[in-house]
Amino acid sequence: MKKSKLFFHQFAHPEPQKNKKAIWPVFTPFSGCPSRCIYCSQYVQTGQKSVSPQQAARKMSEGILSRFNKTGQPASLGFFGGTFTAMRQEEMIIFLRQAMLLKKEGAVDHVRCSTRPDFINQRTLSILDDHGLDMIELGIQSFDDNVLAGARRGYSGKAALKACILVKQHDLQLGVQLLPGLPGSSAASFSTDITITLQIIPQAVRIYPCLVLKHTPLAAMMNKGLYRPWSLQATVSTLSLGLLRLWREGVPVIRIGLSPEKDLADSLISGPWHPALGSICRSLALKMFLFSRLARVQARPAMIYIPEKCRDDFWGHRKMNEPSLIQKGITRDMVRTWGNNCFRIYYSRSSSSSPAIV
Ligand code: SF4
Repeated sequence: MKKSKLFFHQFAHPEPQKNKKAIWPVFTPFSGCPSRCIYCSQYVQTGQKSVSPQQAARKMSEGILSRFNKTGQPASLGFFGGTFTAMRQEEMIIFLRQAMLLKKEGAVDHVRCSTRPDFINQRTLSILDDHGLDMIELGIQSFDDNVLAGARRGYSGKAALKACILVKQHDLQLGVQLLPGLPGSSAASFSTDITITLQIIPQAVRIYPCLVLKHTPLAAMMNKGLYRPWSLQATVSTLSLGLLRLWREGVPVIRIGLSPEKDLADSLISGPWHPALGSICRSLALKMFLFSRLARVQARPAMIYIPEKCRDDFWGHRKMNEPSLIQKGITRDMVRTWGNNCFRIYYSRSSSSSPAIV
């Protein structure tokens, strides 16, 4: 009689470590923007109205200090919603000085800003560096010249790449923001954007699929039949593939999709928006990863240990992964969670066949 013996296959979760600390956002809608990009409606994307830099800086300090007094924990501060480095220099410095003071008091331990790649140069980087900025997130959107021209971004893919390199040469942390689904973009152009991003190796990536918001030039283009947004399904499959590629190369993805701000739902006309888009993409990326590992072993799983923290992604948003996991022979009674960041899959195989412990 053949004996059955257990062997296991163990591997780490592909997602790189990311800083989970929440960011204290300071929105400066459209500040410094040289023109209005065809898809942009910062007031509804951020849920913020325009205020003076002095007002915004004061509010920022009051909020952060009050939080610090309550929690004793320093905040991570981020300037978003416009083109930070294209603001009038004295305005930019109002924010930076206030951020430096907060850092000195210990109420802030990381400062970032979001800006466009065509407003990055040596001089600006030196000012940011001198004022203790830690990270620059560049709204690249795409490295594809046709896509950039269609969105009236006003710079080329080469210029975007050069800005990324400049930030890295300055020893500042780099964030890359991509916007798949713009006019002229495709799954192939997004895949190229991911390839270029992987060559740059930024410290963080955000992916915001293109939405059609009221009162934007993109809405007018769509009404004239000149633009069709990506479907949610196509977006999920394209982004999940990109996400998995970034994970595998150790690049953290810190955000997928716009957050469900109050004004966004009222302004959204069309496009691949879902309140749990990030979670759906993570679930699908993890499933693709697991299935590629399962395919390496020619045996049926007997038991599986999964990292506690990825239980939701494993079964998927609204259990979306469960039917295909069952097809692969993985049922709920076989799954255990543990504190390890590894997956361990036990298989049984008759002793007459050779074990394949990986
Ligand atoms: S996308 Fe960025 S650069 Fe363009 S208008 Fe909006 S905030 Fe300004």
